[in-house]
Amino acid sequence: MQLTDLGTIRDLFSRHGFSFTKSLGQNFLINPSVCPKIAEMGGCGEKVCALEIGTGIGVLTKELALRTKKTVAVEIDKGLEPILEETLSDFHNVEIIFGDITEINLKKLFEEKFQGEEVVVCANLPYYITSPVIMRLLEERLPIRSVTVMVQKEAADRICAKVGSRESGALTVAVNYYSTPKKLFGVSRGSFAPSPNVDSSVIRLDIADETRYHVRDEKLFFRIVKAAFSQRRKQMVNPISSDLKISKEKLSDILRSVGASPTARAEELDMNQFVALCNAVYTDLNQS
Ligand code: SAM
Repeated sequence: MQLTDLGTIRDLFSRHGFSFTKSLGQNFLINPSVCPKIAEMGGCGEKVCALEIGTGIGVLTKELALRTKKTVAVEIDKGLEPILEETLSDFHNVEIIFGDITEINLKKLFEEKFQGEEVVVCANLPYYITSPVIMRLLEERLPIRSVTVMVQKEAADRICAKVGSRESGALTVAVNYYSTPKKLFGVSRGSFAPSPNVDSSVIRLDIADETRYHVRDEKLFFRIVKAAFSQRRKQMVNPISSDLKISKEKLSDILRSVGASPTARAEELDMNQFVALCNAVYTDLNQS
């Protein structure tokens, strides 16, 4: 069954009484070249397991199942169950969990379903939850090798921007803290049914070694990054000093000590400077 064929999709929908729910980000892929590429570039292999988020009618699930030892997919819409039973009936290495990826206990899911196997995440993400899902996958330090996801082109540009460039933001720093992001390829809006108003890109985040950056207090690190970018085009000294109740003079000294100007904006600091800034603030807070 060709799951990217519009006639096939219409037939499945009418036989199972299914219709798209826009609010769930249901834009299904109809370009046949995209899913095999996501699976290939996402690091699937016969000794690897995959986690997918949002199956739709199973177009990517099928490509993952073909190339992995086991594929587990989380899908929120139970209305897709009869369709998936039909489209994935040939695959015995696929398990679908009906639930909300933002609420599911991922640590438990990994323990129960993957039991120490090597895992890659591959998904055409529902765009309304792109950032929270990516951050959850990274923050929970799950045993994942990489996360290969289709996101809106603008989100991909932000995530893959160089830290310390005008295009960077708090999400860029956060993603770079946990992983090395890379843009893989673009996907036009016409590749989906229904067609969204924006183009998309597939990105891969290669999970980094936990010890890459020596941050003394991760919570403080992300608080500083968030505050620094809260007024992104302005000097970062103001929002950080008011959030952490550190004097501007002290913070200016700290910025100088990490090789940044006291008038720097958040988009001017690189990863090592953010880490050094956090650690210097940590020392200062714990002295006073
Ligand atoms: N993988 C399919 C494809 O490429 O055609 C579908 C992708 S579609 C962009 C996003 C899918 O995520 C939909 O099937 C939608 O129902 C599902 N979804 C939306 N919100 C979700 C959530 N919170 N948890 C799990 N799945 C979700």
